Amino acid sequence: MKNYFITAVLSLIIGGCSAGPDEGAYLIHGIRYSDGVPVSVSVNEGGIITRVEPIRDNTTTHGLYISPGLIDLQINGYKGVDFTDTTLTLEDMITVTRALWETGVTQYLPTVITSSDEILQACFSRLSKYIEDPRIARSIPGFHLEGPYISPVQGFRGAHLEKYIRPANWDEFRNYQALSGNKILLVTVAPEFEENITFIQKAAVAGILVSLGHHNAGPEVVHRAVEAGARLSTHLGNGCANEINRHHNPLWPQLSNDSLSISIIADGYHLTRDEVRTFYSVKGDEKTILVSDALDLAGLPPGEYIRGERKILLTPHVAKYPAEDVLAGAASPMKRCVMQMMQYTGCSLKSVVHMASRNPGRLMGLGTGELLPGRRADLIIFEFVDEEMVIRETYVAGEQVYKKSD
Ligand SMILES: [Zn+2]
Repeated sequence: MKNYFITAVLSLIIGGCSAGPDEGAYLIHGIRYSDGVPVSVSVNEGGIITRVEPIRDNTTTHGLYISPGLIDLQINGYKGVDFTDTTLTLEDMITVTRALWETGVTQYLPTVITSSDEILQACFSRLSKYIEDPRIARSIPGFHLEGPYISPVQGFRGAHLEKYIRPANWDEFRNYQALSGNKILLVTVAPEFEENITFIQKAAVAGILVSLGHHNAGPEVVHRAVEAGARLSTHLGNGCANEINRHHNPLWPQLSNDSLSISIIADGYHLTRDEVRTFYSVKGDEKTILVSDALDLAGLPPGEYIRGERKILLTPHVAKYPAEDVLAGAASPMKRCVMQMMQYTGCSLKSVVHMASRNPGRLMGLGTGELLPGRRADLIIFEFVDEEMVIRETYVAGEQVYKKSD
């Protein structure tokens, strides 16, 4: 740790940062994302923000923004690494985490999707060991289990394999939770089955955040699920059939229920501009969360790929599952969704950082996602170039984990 700080201070003097007045502290300068004020952020040796102070001299920011790092609650994989793969290695996890740091993501929940009992057991057994590695531990607070307790109906199940979809089973889940080291923090379920409502109650009592997704629940069931403890809707507007009843469908009650936050894939392909604007108008800065839902194929060249038992078509911007005529996941990192969200809605940088960092951090109780004294120094330095968010530096718990070479 000591060695790092010496390196950091030396290299950071160039990047707009320098050793601070306090012993063991150093400073990171940037234009604060929330109000455009140039600030100096003091970080102590423990990786905690101790001060955020306005500065007069703007030159040390180099015109770059500073904000909390992005937090991705739903990501299936990246750069060829699939989290629902029983051959996953620690090296894979390190590779993918480093690749995500380059995109400004400082914390993420590897998302494991609907699979057989054997595969899910194998995945969580491996993942729980890997995330203890100190090189990546701080960026992976836990896991998201999406399925297998979702709707088996075509359209609603999306690209999840029907044969592995099953009714919620608390004992089965508890086994996964034990294998994960109690690190399944978020679970996506469909609420329209009686046993799934019971499951939601038990999960909520156990402190697991329950999200509704890949379901065809009408108003009564959605509101019951919220009473049972559900707090989030998974990628609202996706995992939904193309044709639904105009009055009684899953969208309206999830939008109208103020106890539900929503996650959305604002990559420019999963939702239309009008959907994004409407959802955001309803849920606002407090209850909208951006997720990438990136597939392992994200970051790879377009083409046809075999993934498990599925043939996936990767276009330059999105992955499709032609067998079911549905999208199979996204191919864009969070920072792309940040740009698209601002373009679609005209929201401020402050608002979009809330949606991509503060809100997921708060909902999951991570203690990150805010540029405030006492918070862990998970920070990004960035600029916008040709309508792209360019990450220049990424810090996790005060440690510089990425710096863009000029
Ligand atoms: Zn999904």
